[in-house]
Amino acid sequence: MQRARFFLLCLISGFLPLAPALCAAKALEIFFIDVEGGQSTLIVDPKGESLLIDTGWPDSNHRDADRIMAAARAANIDHLDYLIVTHYHSDHVGGVEQLASRIQIGTFADHGPNREPTRETSANYATYLEVVGQSHHVSLKPGDTLPFQGMRVEVLTAAGAEITAPLPGAGQPNPLCPTLPSAPADPTENSQSVGVLITYGRFRFIDLGDLTTRGELGLACPRNRIGRVDLYLTTHHGTAHPGTGDSSNARELVDALHPRVAIMNNGAIKGGQPTAWQIVHDSPGLEDFWQLHYAVLSDPEHNVAEQFIANMDMNDDGHPIEVLAEPDATFTVINSRNNFQKTYRK
Ligand SMILES: [Zn+2]
Ligand SMILES: [Zn+2]
Repeated sequence: MQRARFFLLCLISGFLPLAPALCAAKALEIFFIDVEGGQSTLIVDPKGESLLIDTGWPDSNHRDADRIMAAARAANIDHLDYLIVTHYHSDHVGGVEQLASRIQIGTFADHGPNREPTRETSANYATYLEVVGQSHHVSLKPGDTLPFQGMRVEVLTAAGAEITAPLPGAGQPNPLCPTLPSAPADPTENSQSVGVLITYGRFRFIDLGDLTTRGELGLACPRNRIGRVDLYLTTHHGTAHPGTGDSSNARELVDALHPRVAIMNNGAIKGGQPTAWQIVHDSPGLEDFWQLHYAVLSDPEHNVAEQFIANMDMNDDGHPIEVLAEPDATFTVINSRNNFQKTYRK
């Protein structure tokens, strides 16, 4: 199945004269696993090294652990080299105990201690520390890189801080913030999110967890410290409450990132809010917008066409969206529900 997918990518990418194995060696694979409005994103580089970002929810039926394991099998991996926990909310770290009982995790990476003293989040953090136990563990800081050989994983945000210097080639003034805009403080764990930029050749993918606007503006204003990306995972599941501390997907950042494609990790009734959807949809470089779910609480004008949506109702089978990326920044997005796919050429 996986070999067939790679071969298809080779075909549509113009590598037909090359052997499928050679083509397979050229692709970075990303699974946007459906965890019903949480996050779990599996990245496997061409050397077979693996990174999982978040574990989805706790669930009595091991729903999200099962879905992550299905993606791991599809990617032909039997362990995770790294798990990044972006923050300690239930939809991100809740599934860690069930997942760790199913697959070996090499290194646990996070932003450090929990900063949100609510009962639920404190309990999540305690459980997480038990799961980490004596395993290898690192607390990340902006500017850190993880030691992968087949891709570059760079930390942009962690524990409420952002990178202070622009990445190479970035640093252009942002026309949307001639004066430094401000945003209310966010006392929740969202503001602490680990955000990463994953680079494979010229392909750039950004995942900022549930980072909220004060942190987003720290990356984008007054200068764009990141530059442009090819693929943007909508932050905070496509949530926006402009003017509040709980908002994400600030236009100042989204437009500066200038993504070619965005994928929204919303659930049927979580995230996918019209305000965020519109900001991402209107981003000046956007070629297509994909969604993990049809957003039931929104309206047809703020959902994309059905072929770009992986799950159409609340009784779905948890279909992921897959991405195969090549070093020249050509990439293919695959809807696993209907096998609709589209290649974005550089
Ligand atoms: Zn979340
Ligand atoms: Zn959160």
